[in-house]
Amino acid sequence: MGERQVLLCDLDGVVWRRAVPIPGSVEALNDLIASGWEVLFITNSSHDPASHHVERLESLGVPASDRVLTSPMAAALLCEPGERVLCAAGPGVRLELERRGCEVVPGESDVPGAVDAVVVGLHPEFDYRRLGVAMRAVRSGARLIGTNSDPTFPTEAELLPGGGSILAAVATASGVAPVIAGKPEAPMADLITTRLAGPVMRLVMVGDRASTDGRMAEAVGAEFAHVLTGVDDDAPSDTGSHDDLRAVADWLLERGRADRGD
Ligand SMILES: [Mg+2]
Repeated sequence: MGERQVLLCDLDGVVWRRAVPIPGSVEALNDLIASGWEVLFITNSSHDPASHHVERLESLGVPASDRVLTSPMAAALLCEPGERVLCAAGPGVRLELERRGCEVVPGESDVPGAVDAVVVGLHPEFDYRRLGVAMRAVRSGARLIGTNSDPTFPTEAELLPGGGSILAAVATASGVAPVIAGKPEAPMADLITTRLAGPVMRLVMVGDRASTDGRMAEAVGAEFAHVLTGVDDDAPSDTGSHDDLRAVADWLLERGRADRGD
């Protein structure tokens, strides 16, 4: 469809901060959807399964079924069905690896036999012992895959260490540079392009991090809308910023009206 308009929308720091929706975000999404925008949610969040994000969005009144793309989905595409994969991550990664047809090896203790890959994501139980298990697997030849490299993620109360911080520990101990699956890397770009499945007249990516969301936008040929509702502890966007998702929606809707000459 020639008129197709798609918004690629980050979740953490744009729609919500951990459990708390950012004021105006839900209405903004529904206003865009009502005026014909397709919305896909693109998250590097790796701990929870995609179904968890879908349920949360739908409980807020935002249609999200089959519209959430996660870094664990992208990481699973870097593993082949039948491969033995050590999961140094939460249930979101384990589920996607199982869905992919991998044999998932838990990362609590060394297991006999070779492991094809180690996937690292956000892992609240990660500790020195697990670091050793992952390190030995990689030093024995397993590929090192990270769901994402985000150093931190925002919550309402405080900043927490992200999966990228855990990945950095495994990479340092292993002496191996990881392949990263999530925003802004190629596996996530492939996931988005496959999901779009055809030409889009207007493609916009909204996110709170220029270093991941901004570069992801560039990689898939989207315009980047930077919002200030998350924590952006890296460089500010050089294309300007919007206060929040509400402001981005108003800007897009206004531009649509101007394009139509309303
Ligand atoms: Mg974010």
